[in-house]
Amino acid sequence: MKKSATVLTNLKGLLTPDPQSLWKIDRIDDAAIAMSEGRIAWMGRRTDLPAAWSDSPTTDGGGAWALPGFVDPHTHLLFAGDRSGEFNRRLHGIPYTQLAAEGGGIRETVRATRAATVQELVALGEERLQTLRSRGVIHIEAKTGYGLELDAESRLMHAYSELKRRGWSLDVTLLPAHDIPVEFAGNTEGYSRVVKDVWLPELVRRHPGVARYCDVFIETGVFTIEQGRQILEAGKNLGLQPRIHADELSWTGGAELSAELGAASADHLMFCSEQGMKVMAASRVTPILLPTTTLCLGMRDWAPARAMIEAGCRLALASDFNPGSSPCLDPLLVLRLGCLQLRLTFEEALTAMTLHAARSLGHSDLGHLYPGARAAIALWPVQDPLELVYWVGEAYVPYVIC
Ligand SMILES: [Zn+2]
Repeated sequence: MKKSATVLTNLKGLLTPDPQSLWKIDRIDDAAIAMSEGRIAWMGRRTDLPAAWSDSPTTDGGGAWALPGFVDPHTHLLFAGDRSGEFNRRLHGIPYTQLAAEGGGIRETVRATRAATVQELVALGEERLQTLRSRGVIHIEAKTGYGLELDAESRLMHAYSELKRRGWSLDVTLLPAHDIPVEFAGNTEGYSRVVKDVWLPELVRRHPGVARYCDVFIETGVFTIEQGRQILEAGKNLGLQPRIHADELSWTGGAELSAELGAASADHLMFCSEQGMKVMAASRVTPILLPTTTLCLGMRDWAPARAMIEAGCRLALASDFNPGSSPCLDPLLVLRLGCLQLRLTFEEALTAMTLHAARSLGHSDLGHLYPGARAAIALWPVQDPLELVYWVGEAYVPYVIC
């Protein structure tokens, strides 16, 4: 008998993207999954289980549907404080510009995050990761970017490093170019230079091997395309692959830049151009769409998901978890908006939240249930997986193996 081997049986079925194809989903009724050393060794119809596995111990799947665990490829996991008060003031009609002028908005989160200790940040991160896992998310990407000063960004890196040490499955992205801090108000160019020439090298030196990616918020009034290019090239020279907050509130050419730089992803993209879609598809940049952000901002401009698929993009979906525009740790809401507002089919939305999300982070062993994949599986108590989107307000809770 194989060491730590078990066969997951009594499954109503399994549903998994086919990692050899772009959008194909395999559906197997009455399935079984053989697992060994934390990896999937075999999966298929229960009645086809190879003889070599017939004496292995079994794990009861409880009649559930097995789906790959979700991968969330865009979160701002670590920040302190919350902005629920500001949220209600907006509902009372006070414009964001007034709140920002009063020191609210992202500045409030930056103040709270700068005041938090590493232990406090780790505790916040762990609580949020527990919540995500209990809802079927088994791996995330997580950004810095609410410190906006060297030592505060460094504390965020320290906290991410500790979360990884505790066994949480996450990839870290450096995002000091998330906004312009008060200390550099009116001097975006000066701040860009400090980030690329001083902070990025120093953060990589202090926390070797912790960050894999570098990100910039390219937007009218925040960082220009040219500033973004220079910061991301500085990151590349330090071994950090680019990801980009691109074309979110207006077209700036972020998608085009992502292709030029060989970025892992371009994210948001509500105002992506047709040319941007073409070059992302040709350069294998993953467009990552964040529908809960569009929802929470009350925007009508949903990202052009269907046009991206037609252009040949392998798009992914993510939560954009953050305190301002997406205070959401609910993968089912992302999945449902993917279907209801981005007009993806259920199969496409599921693939976007598993296989393509994992691929955008370079993990070929996540996001599917084929042999060799990590045994990171969500068992959903439904008669058919379609119920997860069809019963739109239902709070299904999976049993998660990972
Ligand atoms: Zn974001």
